[in-house]
Amino acid sequence: MTAPSASPTPSASPTFRATVLGSPRIGAHRELKRATESYWAGRIDRAQLESVAAGLRSATRAALAGAGLDSVPVNTFSYYDQVLDTAVLLGALPPRVDAVPDDLDRYFAAARGTADILPLEMTKWFDTNYHYLVPEIGPGTTFHLNPGKVLSELAEARAQGIPARPVVIGPLTFLALSKAVDGGPAPIERLDELLPLYRDLLEQLAGAGARWVQLDEPVLVTDTLDDPAALAEGVYQYLGETSGRPALFVATYFGALDGALPALARTPVEAIGVDLVAGGDRAPAAIPELADKLLVAGVVDGRNIWATDLESALGTLARLSGSAGAVAVSTSCSTLHVPYSLDQETELDAALRSWLAFGAEKVAEVATLATALRDGRESVADAIAASAAAVASRKSDPRLHNSAVRARLQTVLASGIARGPADRRRARQDARLHLPALATTTIGSYPQTVEIRKARAAMKSGEITPAEYERRMKAEIAEVIRLQETIGLDVLVHGEPERNDMVQYFAEQLDGFFATQNGWVQSYGTRCVRPPILYGDVVRPKPMTVDWATYAQSLTTKPVKGMLTGPVTILAWSFVRDDQPLADTANQIALAIRDETVDLESAGITIIQVDEPALRELLPLRSHQKEAYLRWAVGAFRLSTSGVGDSTQIHTHLCYSEFGEIIGAIADLDADVTSIEAARSHMEVLDDLNAIGFSTSVGPGVYDIHSPRVPGTEEIAESLRAAVRAIPAGRLWVNPDCGLKTRSTDEVTAALQNLVQAAELVRAEQ
Ligand code: GLN
Ligand code: ZN
Repeated sequence: MTAPSASPTPSASPTFRATVLGSPRIGAHRELKRATESYWAGRIDRAQLESVAAGLRSATRAALAGAGLDSVPVNTFSYYDQVLDTAVLLGALPPRVDAVPDDLDRYFAAARGTADILPLEMTKWFDTNYHYLVPEIGPGTTFHLNPGKVLSELAEARAQGIPARPVVIGPLTFLALSKAVDGGPAPIERLDELLPLYRDLLEQLAGAGARWVQLDEPVLVTDTLDDPAALAEGVYQYLGETSGRPALFVATYFGALDGALPALARTPVEAIGVDLVAGGDRAPAAIPELADKLLVAGVVDGRNIWATDLESALGTLARLSGSAGAVAVSTSCSTLHVPYSLDQETELDAALRSWLAFGAEKVAEVATLATALRDGRESVADAIAASAAAVASRKSDPRLHNSAVRARLQTVLASGIARGPADRRRARQDARLHLPALATTTIGSYPQTVEIRKARAAMKSGEITPAEYERRMKAEIAEVIRLQETIGLDVLVHGEPERNDMVQYFAEQLDGFFATQNGWVQSYGTRCVRPPILYGDVVRPKPMTVDWATYAQSLTTKPVKGMLTGPVTILAWSFVRDDQPLADTANQIALAIRDETVDLESAGITIIQVDEPALRELLPLRSHQKEAYLRWAVGAFRLSTSGVGDSTQIHTHLCYSEFGEIIGAIADLDADVTSIEAARSHMEVLDDLNAIGFSTSVGPGVYDIHSPRVPGTEEIAESLRAAVRAIPAGRLWVNPDCGLKTRSTDEVTAALQNLVQAAELVRAEQ
């Protein structure tokens, strides 16, 4: 690689061959989670927490360097979230946390709130299931540089003799992910204020011995910014002109750069990182401006758990070598999104294990590919042969291809996935269910009590028999039914005591899924999830929920809703096979859910809810891909819900997002009743639904279950009155925002009593 002659780059231009864009930080055994939660609970002090954190950082760096990476990312550690870290770096914490004297506690106050400080809002990081904290930029924000964290992590690495590359979120991405508050302009308008700070940071990092700095700009693969190419060119031209700076590596991930790639390549930055997995592997080869850049080729999927096909990755790298100045091998994004290592999975069969690569295995793949580039493929012949064998084994494994299920899917699809007309369904359901206007219900789960958790643990450890477990769960169900009858709700639920997680519960019962033992991935802060691995064709060997539902229904004359998780949500919260289109996989899951709805109906269940809280999450980052996604996502939902008769009422439930962009798709789901998160957004969603002519029933959430606050009767009644102004009472349902499993029984009882009273009050006013 040679630096462009006009740019004031460091005299001897450095280079690297093998790296990852970032790595997990919670600890292979979730050590950071435990330590942080102990610190919050006051069981350990700050010094003890910091020592756990320093140990994890040091072990991570040593592992990355030891595996053969010649450039190791640092500042990828975080006590909570990397976007929040960037807000601290740039002096952009909200003024309301200033009163907290200790800087670590101030940081946690911004992340989680305190008794009297509201936390920052949390939202999904691009199209992943990781959540970041949304910085607030307002008139009170006075940017200033606070580089302590990145400088000290760099110093730690240098003391360890590691070739460290500080990683910082770039200015465009930081501002695009922030939100304006207190009447301030869109954060991106304040770009010019931030750029000198980044310049200063680059100079300080160079002074502290950094030869490379990675600036992350994933926002450039989305359609968020008005003119991403021009902005990217302007920002990186400016930063490129910083005197005495380290070499600059602009990393992008989660998609293709399109026009922003040649724009970035025209600037003086030394390296550009491209995601060749999510973004396709062809485009960079056609950009002449890359001829003097180091192209950091993200050929190893950082987000999914499949082993890389080394042969195919070498082909991609060979093609790129002809066009870029030099090529380094990398993961497509940070491996934050995959578990630490396969080492801890002892129950995998050999075939399945050979198909997989978690974080540590991906690092090894990067190193292998880089060695092949430098020393020729013969130098890694064994690894290539093993990879080829794994690819062949995965292709031919009978579990991946169940022709009976595939044929049945085609037959069902060919026979159509539409239900009867909505008004006919409505009439038949009314005649059967006799529900009042403003019918009251809940979203599915009731508090997961200590007894429930204990029973699950005891069952897992073999301390109690499955029969005893079932007895205890049934006792919980009976209790929850009794509670709902006492409160006077119209449509009951069984409370989901038997479900540890709304996706894992189904994954454990479907063929084609594998549950990991220790495949934890950070979801936000100290919260981790363990997504199942969907590796083969999905088959439902037997009914999954019918016994629980019918037991609950046997205890009451009121209707009990059957509760299922929808195909898109199961897909979104699993690691999914990458050998066929997502749409095909979604349809296979949908067929299994459809079979479940039909079985529930035959068992006498009259109302079935199919939850799709993740419908918005998988929405593609590029506008032109959105329509195709929504088409197949809606299709999968309809496939899963159209097997039942017109008199069976289908509910769906949506939450966790802004619905504006997908409001049309929500209508297309064609559910009879849609419950939707609304308590925080004050019913605005109803106007949006009206605007598109939404004509089925809707239950806007009137109880914010994310807060321990119990809403009063009059407060709920006011929300309902607002709702009735937008939608006729006959089409309105009354329900909380989401499931109740994280709340206490006392809170839930009080809130639901108020909810039922408020419904009666407003019903009487109609
Ligand atoms: N039925 C699920 C529950 O109540 C829905 C959860 C969700 O929307 N995330 O827990
Ligand atoms: Zn929900």
